[in-house]
Amino acid sequence: MNIPFLDLKAINARHAAELKAAAARVIDSGWYVLGEEVKSFESEFAAWVGSPHCVGTSDGLSALILALRGWKELGLIKDGDAVAVPANTYIASILAITENRLRPVLVEPDEDTFNLGATKLAAALTPDVKAVLAVHLYGQLADMPAIAQLCRERGLLLLEDAAQSHGAHIGGVKAGAWGDAAAFSFYPGKNLGALGDAGALTCKDVKLAQMVRALRNYGSHEKYKNLVQGPNDRLDEMQAAFLRVKLPHMDDDNGRRQAIARRYRQEIKHPAVRLPAVRAGEESHVWHLFVVRVPDREAFQKRLAEHGVHTAVHYPIPPHQQEAYVRQLGHLKLPLTEAMHREVVSLPISPVMSDESVSYVIGLLNR
Ligand SMILES: *Cc1c(COP(=O)(O)O)cnc(C)c1O
Repeated sequence: MNIPFLDLKAINARHAAELKAAAARVIDSGWYVLGEEVKSFESEFAAWVGSPHCVGTSDGLSALILALRGWKELGLIKDGDAVAVPANTYIASILAITENRLRPVLVEPDEDTFNLGATKLAAALTPDVKAVLAVHLYGQLADMPAIAQLCRERGLLLLEDAAQSHGAHIGGVKAGAWGDAAAFSFYPGKNLGALGDAGALTCKDVKLAQMVRALRNYGSHEKYKNLVQGPNDRLDEMQAAFLRVKLPHMDDDNGRRQAIARRYRQEIKHPAVRLPAVRAGEESHVWHLFVVRVPDREAFQKRLAEHGVHTAVHYPIPPHQQEAYVRQLGHLKLPLTEAMHREVVSLPISPVMSDESVSYVIGLLNR
């Protein structure tokens, strides 16, 4: 057996004919930037998420950055304000805060779900915290009913980092529809993956949608008229066309991931392997990653690889210990986060993984 961690070629091969037709449609249209494909994808994705507005961006990081930047331009937050964010996240969440000259307040996550919980969040809310960035890490929604309520009570803006959680929902309310705004990534390996970089913002307030629409395009709301100073962070027309092919298959793909995760959670029984917990019903987790904790990760990964099972680590170094942040955040002691980063390992999971491969991984782990 050889089980890759992720087989992107096989994932996209299922849609090869449609993807090629979509590429041909863009080529033949003669319109390559901010055309009908981007516009159509934005309305299709907004409808799928259940959010009033969607603005396509060049990638997930730019969607995160522009959400906060939009709030700054609208006067809702200002330089130096603090943003509460889980300490164990992909570094992009933190970069979005510091890129905007805002201050990250790192909050330790819940041990069982790897996600931000309302109790520790509430304890971290000093008066200079003006916004919360909740990350739905590995595909599981953070405790959004409680976090959203807390934000309402305290008058805080709520941004979701939904880069790993397309389609996860609690009570029918999906990732991207809980906060004032949310950022999605369509990096090729994400649950909804383009064939290159792509991202999107969803939001409730039309003023933020209009501001981000201008911001992603040099700050221009009308051709050759610039409202604000903005970057070029547009969603590519070709990627939008590819995403429109893949979006209708998302629910099936997530269903397959959930079926694999259910087997992993029921059938992996080795006492040294700590399985992930699901807090709010099966649909609240779309298993972008299936992350377990093991005491000796290096040996574990090596043994699995010797038997053809390839794993990955998300992520080996927490943001506050990255070289990029040592001066700003390096003094922090975050024992839960640091232990997670030492012990986590991601098992193969994808919509194209066969039952036979899943059984093989389970058998190997239990031995
Ligand atoms: C992938 C990811 C991002 C960044 O998305 P890009 O499209 O790669 O810029 C942000 N946050 C999280 C949690 C991610 O997994």
